[in-house]
Amino acid sequence: MRTLYRAARVRTLSYPAVGEWILVDGRHVERVGAGDPPTADRVIELPGMTIVPGFVDAHVHLTGTGVHHQVPDLERAASAGAVLEIVSRAAATRQGPMLVHGYDESRWEHREPPTAADLDGLSDRPLAVVRVDGHLSLANSAALRESGALDLPGVERDEQGVPTGRVITEANAALQRWFASNLADHDIEELQLHAAALAAARGITTVHEMSMIRERGMRDLEVLLGHRRRLPVDVVPYIVTTDVSRAMELGLPRIGGDLPVDGSIGARTAWLSEPYEDGSGNGNSYFDRDSLAQFFHDGHLAGLQVGVHAIGDAAIDQVVSTWERVYLSLDSRGRRHFRARRHRIEHVEMASADVLERAAMLGLAASVQPSFDAAWGSPGGLYEQVLGRERAAGMNPFRDILHRGIEMGAGSDSPITSIGPMIGIAAFGSHHDPLQRLTRDEAIRVFTIGSARLAHQEDKKGSLEPGKHADFAAYDGDPFEVPDVGGLRPVLTVSLGRDVYAA
Ligand SMILES: [Zn+2]
Repeated sequence: MRTLYRAARVRTLSYPAVGEWILVDGRHVERVGAGDPPTADRVIELPGMTIVPGFVDAHVHLTGTGVHHQVPDLERAASAGAVLEIVSRAAATRQGPMLVHGYDESRWEHREPPTAADLDGLSDRPLAVVRVDGHLSLANSAALRESGALDLPGVERDEQGVPTGRVITEANAALQRWFASNLADHDIEELQLHAAALAAARGITTVHEMSMIRERGMRDLEVLLGHRRRLPVDVVPYIVTTDVSRAMELGLPRIGGDLPVDGSIGARTAWLSEPYEDGSGNGNSYFDRDSLAQFFHDGHLAGLQVGVHAIGDAAIDQVVSTWERVYLSLDSRGRRHFRARRHRIEHVEMASADVLERAAMLGLAASVQPSFDAAWGSPGGLYEQVLGRERAAGMNPFRDILHRGIEMGAGSDSPITSIGPMIGIAAFGSHHDPLQRLTRDEAIRVFTIGSARLAHQEDKKGSLEPGKHADFAAYDGDPFEVPDVGGLRPVLTVSLGRDVYAA
């Protein structure tokens, strides 16, 4: 069946740059053109609107996004008291163990989060409140006990040895995994579907899913693979593991994704070469040199694309050094093909000019989150609070990354920041350092063809050309031109030729 979409303009990000209609045959674009349109079985009139290629969010956690949106007010809570009030309201409407996500104390006037005792006061059912970045949780006594987290490293204790409720690293992963194990398959499907529908409603047609099997178990990915064809957006899964044979058994050409080489700035677990300003040390390193090299080597030789999460400068340096070591171990033929693999670094926030130069030499790709800068990069924000002014100033050097010729795609890391490319595109344009800002055109390209290239899908996605996937969104205002792009929402989203969202 052929469908014709007629609009004021179709921005192709290809040649010719602008058309007036797009003809879709099944899942694919047949033709883009101007003037008299061809006949079709179905005609969708979009008068005055602008069609652009569907956005690709290169870093999403679908289930986590669904969980976040069960209690969405938490991100706006401005004190420990407000968190407790929201959690207590949510607890009253639900049964059994409850995990909620999304508080961010870095924006509070008094930055003391609730304690285990506070949470015990709310419920004797297992209860956990996960920090916005996912790298730290607050848990009540029942949650600590029943999840088995108490026996693991990462449970903070006071001088008397009593847990404070703050949980990081291994204990945090075990805690979250235990809560996930209490969900039925159907619950997981619903959470993923809710998240995918939200993405479609924001003009996204493809997401790169970072499947956190350490925090959610294998079942989370299995459920996703079981229903991904029915979801409103196309899903490109990255399995967060070092187990190369497991990825291959699942038929996945990609591995690692958000696999943490370090943690986050907010949890003070991002691995830094110089200590945090507030005396909390240098953060955490999750891999020794040799085991990371082994993983990179095995993944590369198996023909997989490998990704890892690295935020702090020490972590990014470790990743790049380790790839250099793997590269040098290859013969000349292997070296010739290395760059084409576009091994990924997720976040790559605290990157120096030197490390970017070395990453560019290896053809490594950057998967960035511009909304991190908008949330935490401004003067007085989280990064300045914990890194000091000088280091905070150099965070998220987007223009430097582009100038080095590094492949760059963008994402939300939802639920860490809200899903929605326009928020990210606005953030690219309002970076705390004016020299690192991207133009509107560049920002849109990074969120479409740039992200498509990060998954080796540029022959199918990211621009509107004959034979490519029919992935696009139509807007009342032209995303290339409207002054305030951040709040722009699509009127229609089409993914793989299906109308997946209509306002
Ligand atoms: Zn990450």
